[in-house]
Amino acid sequence: MTVGTERAAGARFAVDDSPEEAAFRAEARAFLDSIAVLRSDADETGSYFAMADDDPETHRRHVARNKEWQRRIFDAGWAGITVPVEYGGRGGERWQERIFRQEQARYNVDTGLFAVSLGMVVPTILVHGTEEHKRRYIPPMLRGEEIWCQLFSEPGAGSDLAGLTTRAVRDGDEWVVNGQKVWNSGAHHADFGALIARTDVDVPKHRGITYFLLDMRTSGVEVRPLRQATGVAHFNEVFLTDVRVPHRNVLGAVNGGWAVAQTMLMNERNMIGSGGMGVGFGDYLRLARAFGVTDIPVIRQALAACFTRTEILEYLGARAQAAIRAGKQPGPETSVLKLNASLHSALNGDLGLQIQGAAGMLARDDAYRRGMFQQLFVGQWGVRIGGGTEQIQRNVIGERVLGLPGESRPDKTLPFREVPRNG
Ligand SMILES: Cc1cc2nc3c(=O)[nH]c(=O)nc-3n(C[C@H](O)[C@H](O)[C@H](O)COP(=O)(O)OP(=O)(O)OC[C@H]3O[C@@H](n4cnc5c(N)ncnc54)[C@H](O)[C@@H]3O)c2cc1C
Repeated sequence: MTVGTERAAGARFAVDDSPEEAAFRAEARAFLDSIAVLRSDADETGSYFAMADDDPETHRRHVARNKEWQRRIFDAGWAGITVPVEYGGRGGERWQERIFRQEQARYNVDTGLFAVSLGMVVPTILVHGTEEHKRRYIPPMLRGEEIWCQLFSEPGAGSDLAGLTTRAVRDGDEWVVNGQKVWNSGAHHADFGALIARTDVDVPKHRGITYFLLDMRTSGVEVRPLRQATGVAHFNEVFLTDVRVPHRNVLGAVNGGWAVAQTMLMNERNMIGSGGMGVGFGDYLRLARAFGVTDIPVIRQALAACFTRTEILEYLGARAQAAIRAGKQPGPETSVLKLNASLHSALNGDLGLQIQGAAGMLARDDAYRRGMFQQLFVGQWGVRIGGGTEQIQRNVIGERVLGLPGESRPDKTLPFREVPRNG
């Protein structure tokens, strides 16, 4: 999962803007200028996840800042740009949403906590939800009142997500869920979870999964934070013991959850690919200037490569924007964006340390920007694995974009109960 939706500070965002897009961008900028200030190196915003600051007070402040900002843009009519007006949104277009996010990323505001809710859950409910689902769940997300997390991965089901074993069994008007989820970003702050569970073991694995909208305060839900290499507990294990979920909280068809999950995953890849790591070329250039290394040829080359990658991502994003304008839902091409964002984060991780030299070993208050670039180096694997690993994106691109022969999947047609498993 993503750690934020911010883009390279100071990068050019107006690649191929049409006059209509440029006008919208100017309107968004004018609004944002009226209520926020631009990011600077002194901000904690944008580097929250990189600070390795696990003080509960820092977390509390982060949650409060996210909620407060979301409420402000909601009150001004800028929340949920693509969401129909009847569900509290602006009733606009996806290209407008994209432009607004790019512009918002330039300001000293916190938005990352709503990445799953707004970037993944809202679009999924809009496609697969009933009228009741849309009216109950979408407005509180837009107002910044309810935070969601994604409860997909399990200890034995990540890349092979359809192999999940968390079970949901129908009991009258309820489902009883037992199992374990893992790597669930922000679950410790979440009010609701988007949960997938196995509801039929007698059909092949993709056909026996159902998608549930889970209230995280339900009895039997236990959230245990996991500390990452960066020092921060950003994601969690979630244990589900006899958790009762009302049948009305099924999103899509019973046993049709794989299609619903795919909608969410494509929106996730699109978001990660378009969102980057919240730190971009401008930050690396400032870092190089601060360390007085802009005259060193290898650094200049590495900075130029970083700029080139930023531009390529920008053009890939513009291409996605054009497809969206043409009314298409995000598809397998989102894997191209996700893969490029992953590679960019890996190379940027190296660049941040290369520029600092020995000072790259310092941390926290001893380090430049409280060790943010060191944390980005350590944290790069989060970006590269979350939302589907690089290898999996290459498989998707090979099979579904390039039309190459598929991997051998002997378990694809077997009833799930006959698939060999450990334990
Ligand atoms: C920062 C972060 C946030 C996350 N947030 C969430 C979240 O909010 N909710 C959630 O549900 N999950 C979340 N995840 C989990 C994430 O989706 C999984 O980690 C990811 O899908 C990989 O699964 P896995 O960890 O089980 O690795 P595995 O699937 O066990 O993969 C191990 C290695 O094998 C490779 N591999 C596996 N299968 C193939 C194949 N067929 N072909 C080639 N190579 C293969 C993989 O590329 C990888 O290198 C998050 C992960 C991270 C790192």
